[in-house]
Amino acid sequence: QAKITGRNRYHFFDADLDEQVRTHHNRRTEVRAALRGGEMRLYYQPKLNMRRGRIVGMEALLRWQHPERGVVGPMDFLPFVEHTDLIVDIGEWVLREALRQLQSWRGFDPDWVVSVNIAARHFQRNDFVERLTAILAEFPDVPPYMLELEILESSALSDVGHVRAIMLACQALGISFALDDFGTGYSSMSYLKRLPADVLKVDQSFVRNMLVDRDDRHLVSAVIGLARAFELGVIAEGVETVAHGALLMRLGCDLAQGFGIARPMPSAEVLPWVSAFDTAPVWQAAALLPPI
Ligand code: C2E
Ligand code: MG
Ligand code: MG
Ligand code: MG
Repeated sequence: QAKITGRNRYHFFDADLDEQVRTHHNRRTEVRAALRGGEMRLYYQPKLNMRRGRIVGMEALLRWQHPERGVVGPMDFLPFVEHTDLIVDIGEWVLREALRQLQSWRGFDPDWVVSVNIAARHFQRNDFVERLTAILAEFPDVPPYMLELEILESSALSDVGHVRAIMLACQALGISFALDDFGTGYSSMSYLKRLPADVLKVDQSFVRNMLVDRDDRHLVSAVIGLARAFELGVIAEGVETVAHGALLMRLGCDLAQGFGIARPMPSAEVLPWVSAFDTAPVWQAAALLPPI
């Protein structure tokens, strides 16, 4: 009896797996077609220096403008492709699109830094630096220091030495690096020692609850302290309210990104939004609170 159940279960599991493989395959085909068909978009989320009341740049975030389903977020389609070379095509599209956008924003504010998320598989390719150099050359008007790459610390899991070499080569081109979702991986401390990062991004899961969860507040504070000790920049993501911003400034972090400042928006909305944005009343009052 147990054996039959076991076999049946195995059989069902097998069918499930088969179905899953088919779905993944279909999804990949759809995403590839969407990329070729011009359905991908970049949305931009502003980064704010809360203390100075200035927008210092944007993070580019991928969206799929689906003809029927509307705007589809990256978590709903990147998981199907990030283990295939399609993620490289997508990543290169994202880089070109961000650089094209920078070409027009450069005149508005040449100090902006736009960051682009790069998948581990893309980043670790042997030809990454060579191809990035070629892509940058297509946009001779854009100074490379306006581009920042965001990578997850898990991107370095397999071979820290290799990743370190890629980062150094990119930095020689003028590009900077942020370690995204910092603190959520297992090896943050040892990577920090070996990876030449420029900026740490405090993960939003810590930031979101730091007003009510003391442990999360301690984690946020520790990441800010690490950044200071290593002389790196630090930015908090997931800043949803002025209270979050006020606490961050008191903990020593002036840069923030989150729904409390702005949601990611289509590129056409960025300059009008920035021109209308007036931080002085809320964020600067918060900056006057004493440090903790
Ligand atoms: P991420 O790089 O950590 O980006 C931050 C995510 O948090 C974005 O989700 C953003 O919309 C969301 N977010 C920002 N502020 C807040 C807030 O105050 N509250 C909450 N609840 N969420 C906030 P999104 O756009 O869905 O992107 C999810 C992830 O997908 C990104 O996480 C990044 O890892 C990946 N991703 C996005 N664009 C790209 C891309 O062009 N290439 C690659 N390889 N990955 C991308
Ligand atoms: Mg990011
Ligand atoms: Mg992040
Ligand atoms: Mg994330």
